[in-house]
Amino acid sequence: MKQKLCPWCLLTVGLGSVAGASDLPSDLRSHPRACRHDSTKQDGAQAADAKPLPLLVKQAIALLPFIDDGQVVILPRTSDLSVYLVSWGYSRDTASQTVAEVAPLAEFTIDHHFPIFINGGSPHYRRILASWEHGKSPDEAARVLASDIYHEYRHAACGEEELDALAAQICLLKRWRHEGLLKIADPYIAAKESRRRSLAKSAIKSR
Ligand SMILES: [Zn+2]
Repeated sequence: MKQKLCPWCLLTVGLGSVAGASDLPSDLRSHPRACRHDSTKQDGAQAADAKPLPLLVKQAIALLPFIDDGQVVILPRTSDLSVYLVSWGYSRDTASQTVAEVAPLAEFTIDHHFPIFINGGSPHYRRILASWEHGKSPDEAARVLASDIYHEYRHAACGEEELDALAAQICLLKRWRHEGLLKIADPYIAAKESRRRSLAKSAIKSR
C-alpha cells in the first residue's frame, strides 16, 4: 500500500510577518463545495475504536455540510493511528513508521482517503482549542479548524494534490473573511498563501 502523506499540512500558523496580499481567486464564491456526491465514508472510519468527536470538531464540521462526523477522526495520541493502519493491511513496522511520519502534522489523510485525521495533541489543534475555549471569537476558531478539515477533504474526496487543496482552503478562508465571518485569521491566511507560492515555484522549477 503506497503511502501518500501530506507534509504541507504541518503547522504554519503564527507566521504573521509573511506578506499575504493577493487577488481573490475567481472561484471564491463557489467554496466550500462538495467534490462529488458519493464521497461518503469509505475507508472504515468506524472500523476502529473511534473516539467521540469533541464539540469544537463537531462545530467545525457543521460548517461544511457535505462532510459528516463519521468521516473525521480525532486521535488523542498519534499512536492511536496504528489501529487503523493495521486494519487496512499495513504491517506493524510500516504502521509504526507511518505514525512517526504523521506525528508532526495537525491534520492529515492516508493515501488521500477518508477518514480525515486530526492530531488532538498537535500544537496547532491545541492552539485552536484554547482559542475556542478561552478566546473572544470561538466561532472563528472553529472556522479555522473547518478550513483545515476542508483542505483534507479536498485530498480525500477530490483527489487533489497539495497545491490545489491549499488553494481551496485559502479560497474558503478568504471567503469567510470577505463575509466578515473571520477576522482573526489574517496571519494564518498569509502563511498559507506563502506556502502556496513557494509550492507553485517549486512546481515550475521541477518542470
Ligand atoms: Zn494537504
